[in-house]
Amino acid sequence: MGFLNTILDIIFPSYCLSCQKRGPSLCLKCLSESPEAERESAKWIFPMYEYRHPPIKKSIWLLKYGGKKELANIFAEIMHGRILEELAEFNIMYNFREPLLVPIPLSKERYKERGFNQAELICKKLVEIDNNANFKLLKEVLIKPTNTLHQAKIENRAKRMKNIIGSFAIKDGGGNLELIKNRNIMLIDDVTTTGATLSEAKKVLKQAGAKKIIAFTLAH
Ligand SMILES: [Zn+2]
Repeated sequence: MGFLNTILDIIFPSYCLSCQKRGPSLCLKCLSESPEAERESAKWIFPMYEYRHPPIKKSIWLLKYGGKKELANIFAEIMHGRILEELAEFNIMYNFREPLLVPIPLSKERYKERGFNQAELICKKLVEIDNNANFKLLKEVLIKPTNTLHQAKIENRAKRMKNIIGSFAIKDGGGNLELIKNRNIMLIDDVTTTGATLSEAKKVLKQAGAKKIIAFTLAH
């Protein structure tokens, strides 16, 4: 923790919203003991926790809108373990080797509004924890050129799909297609609901020549 953060923590101490212990807004222990995602997802999507569990819902909100960026580090700690578990199986079953980590992008407008992309923060920490042992980060290749409505504000899957279709693209130039071709990819996002966003991102990456694609999210 930097000096300024230490001072800020003394003036405005932060507490775990679940156990009230001093520290991050959701501590590692409370996160790891949260209920797992209950509802079924597509076989290639791996959500970790149940979104309806209040500390999960609240902490994801705090990460995105409440300035609690440090939560991305806590989420990444747990997600890294989960990724390794699945990779062990995928390596054997599908020869899923040397995967690339791809965060679900935000549109420029949304990025400006928020100042950061929460999926990218989680990815950065995942790479730091992993230290190039299992995967590499591929950033700013999958992009979101158009701004769409917040998926969370749209009620059904058909409408969510319609909202998100055509909103992702592979950034032109720089040999980006070569970077994706024949590569295994792990998409990272904060929440999946109907899977529409992840499916659309998968479609675009597949069209660009990616091999196998799986996705990890904090919650469903
Ligand atoms: Zn706690």
